[in-house]
Amino acid sequence: MANDYYNILGVEKGASDDEIKKAYRKLAHKYHPDKSGGDEKKFKEINEAYQVLSDKAKRSQYDQFGQTFQGGAPGGSQDFDFSGFDFGNFSRQNNGGFSAKGGPASGWEFQFGGDDLGDIFSNVFGGRSQGRGRGRRGQDIQVDVEIDFSEMVHGAEREINLRRSVRCGRCGGTGAEPGAKIKTCPTCKGAGQVEKTTRSFFGMFSQVGICPECEGAGKVPEKKCSQCGGDGRVKENENIKIKIPAGLSDGQTISLEGKGEAGEKGAPPGNLYVVVHVKPHPKFTRNGLDILSTEYISFSMAALGGEIEIETLYGKLILKIPAGTQSGETFRVRDKGAPDLGGRGVGNHLVKVIVSVPRKITREQKRLIEELGKNML
Ligand SMILES: [Zn+2]
Ligand SMILES: [Zn+2]
Repeated sequence: MANDYYNILGVEKGASDDEIKKAYRKLAHKYHPDKSGGDEKKFKEINEAYQVLSDKAKRSQYDQFGQTFQGGAPGGSQDFDFSGFDFGNFSRQNNGGFSAKGGPASGWEFQFGGDDLGDIFSNVFGGRSQGRGRGRRGQDIQVDVEIDFSEMVHGAEREINLRRSVRCGRCGGTGAEPGAKIKTCPTCKGAGQVEKTTRSFFGMFSQVGICPECEGAGKVPEKKCSQCGGDGRVKENENIKIKIPAGLSDGQTISLEGKGEAGEKGAPPGNLYVVVHVKPHPKFTRNGLDILSTEYISFSMAALGGEIEIETLYGKLILKIPAGTQSGETFRVRDKGAPDLGGRGVGNHLVKVIVSVPRKITREQKRLIEELGKNML
């Protein structure tokens, strides 16, 4: 395997979460690019490995397939964009979890304070919260539902059970323990901003950014919420009713705004995207708003005309076959197609009529047809 995450962290395949966490801490400390002898490339590798192995779902996927996949949701599960992240400033940019200890940039020391490394890294590596107020917007969720062909025309309702994070009820999403005192943010000393020092080939330069600990507020609660650990959200199972409007086509998506994962520290939630799949029908196909089907008639009916019973998505109907109908002719039954999603009318049901020629005939039938043939072209 090109990227063996277990190898990178130097642990056995069956390593416990604790062992993985320990190995990661040791290595992250050793290879931190701010330290002498640090290695940025290696540091990234270690982080990538830890991101996967510390996440139950990702780890089992990795064990099974040797790689992890994005959830497929638009804006999907965590993605790590290192390009915007400045490693030279790592120890100062993070919050709570690490604490920086003096020294020039090359000599930064750091240690882990908090225990929840996953959270620290979603803060540090997400890096997108800056300038967007407190916390990051919740992630989007994508689910797939399947409906019948006739439900596509008439609409449907589905109830799905979703386990997602919702705003914490105890703290109302603020992350502060109710009644906790508010103190000045220790990271920025209340300024709401921190100075970031960047190292480059051209020397050092400084830049001011929003404090990641307090997200610019300058104040933090003295005690984090005991229910959500300060994150402002908790996991919950919820049944969500989804109305599937009449007229949707296969593969179309319904967006439910705000029904995705709750945002961090009270930030807006993500969206829920429901991708609708339509089961094929044995008899019908769809073309735009029109529904198509094929019916077979005898050649005597084609010649003489008559009536047949046809099936539509609105029930059975009688279709008049005029005398002299040609095989392959199409008849239109008005307003028995799919409704336009925008409410601009309904399509038609188009019946293609095929004249079936019998494969076996009796001697008597043969005589009659021969008789008929004498007088026709
Ligand atoms: Zn809470
Ligand atoms: Zn702060």
